[in-house]
Amino acid sequence: MTQRPGYTATYDVIDKLDDYLPPDPAHRNAIIWRAVQAALDAEDAAGTEAVAELATELAEERTLVNQLRADLDHAERDNRRLTAVIKRIRELHRPESDQYHGKCVECAEWWPCPTIRDLEQ
Ligand SMILES: [Zn+2]
Repeated sequence: MTQRPGYTATYDVIDKLDDYLPPDPAHRNAIIWRAVQAALDAEDAAGTEAVAELATELAEERTLVNQLRADLDHAERDNRRLTAVIKRIRELHRPESDQYHGKCVECAEWWPCPTIRDLEQ
């Protein structure tokens, strides 16, 4: 929009007058106030339309935010599950002794066993 709706509405009223201008002030005032009213109505309508567009955009963004929130919940749940699984694997695959040598008590491979090496990659 290059021109505000109020200007367009005012020019419409002026165009309808063509070459006619009322000779007396009372009728000239009436024409002026009719143009002012048309301009105000046009601005109100444009404002209402803009508010409706913003409301639509807001609703779309709210939907997007809710979707992202649901995705995040899923990701957090997956992360907690994976963390619990890794913790359980580390509890099972541990060295025979506190010294960092010997074999894994779970798979009997030399420590660190392949399972633990895979986890630490
Ligand atoms: Zn192991």
